[in-house]
Amino acid sequence: MNRFSLAGKTALVTGANTGIGAAIAVALSGAGAHVIAAGRRSCADTVASMGSGEEMLLDFTDPMAAKDVFASRPIDILVNNAGIIRRADAVDFTEADWDDVMDVNAKALFFTCQAFGREVIARQATGKIVNIASLLSFQGGIRVPSYTASKHSVAGLTKLLANEWAGKGINVNAIAPGYIETNNTAALRADPDRNQAILDRIPAGRWGHAQDIADSAVYLSAPASDYVHGTILNVDGGWLAR
Ligand code: NDP
Repeated sequence: MNRFSLAGKTALVTGANTGIGAAIAVALSGAGAHVIAAGRRSCADTVASMGSGEEMLLDFTDPMAAKDVFASRPIDILVNNAGIIRRADAVDFTEADWDDVMDVNAKALFFTCQAFGREVIARQATGKIVNIASLLSFQGGIRVPSYTASKHSVAGLTKLLANEWAGKGINVNAIAPGYIETNNTAALRADPDRNQAILDRIPAGRWGHAQDIADSAVYLSAPASDYVHGTILNVDGGWLAR
């Protein structure tokens, strides 16, 4: 048996229209899963790249949305990738920018996990959850207070859910990406000084690719990681090792 095969599994990836989410959807599909590429906007391009699978229009901040999806059909793998960021100095940070980020990155992530977990446990089935954390699950960062708080929450919730559900057949793990080339980081790369400062700080000497994260997501979704619970896998070119 190929312990990295996802044949016969159904996976749902949030925020799959672009960036890391799109790469994860394509990689899970390549490993054999039937993938539901879910997002606030059309994921048709991702579905075209997969060659099979389907798209689903969903805003994950709607608490009923996730419940309806998992109640409607058995899903084996959930990848919580959807995430947003707001930047401002701590002294100027607004309540709206706090709430918007916490709603998507922490609250929606938890309630999507809850809806998935309830359904898998009720079916007495097995499941895999892969949450997308960040370097800022471990570090403070600067000018991103709600993002840092939300990503620390992702790390904590991943461990809490792993504790509660490891004995119920659900693996809950996370990936902490370093600096990855996506639209999210385009402005950093466009500033030559900032770009060089980031490269100088990465032991591997290059930005990460969405594929680097997708490969780890396949592992954490597959039977190969059946004994892995509550891990936050750093995929950061060695950033946190420094
Ligand atoms: P993008 O901004 O390219 O993609 C984010 C995705 O999340 C988009 O598809 C976005 O949809 C979706 N999304 C946001 N809010 C919602 C919502 N309420 N419901 C459904 N979908 C939503 O970012 P990346 O690909 O770079 O980031 C993906 C994940 O990786 C995020 O969680 C991010 O925090 C994390 N990460 C990224 C790093 C990087 O260097 N790029 C580093 C560390 C972590 P829409 O297009 O409609 O806005």
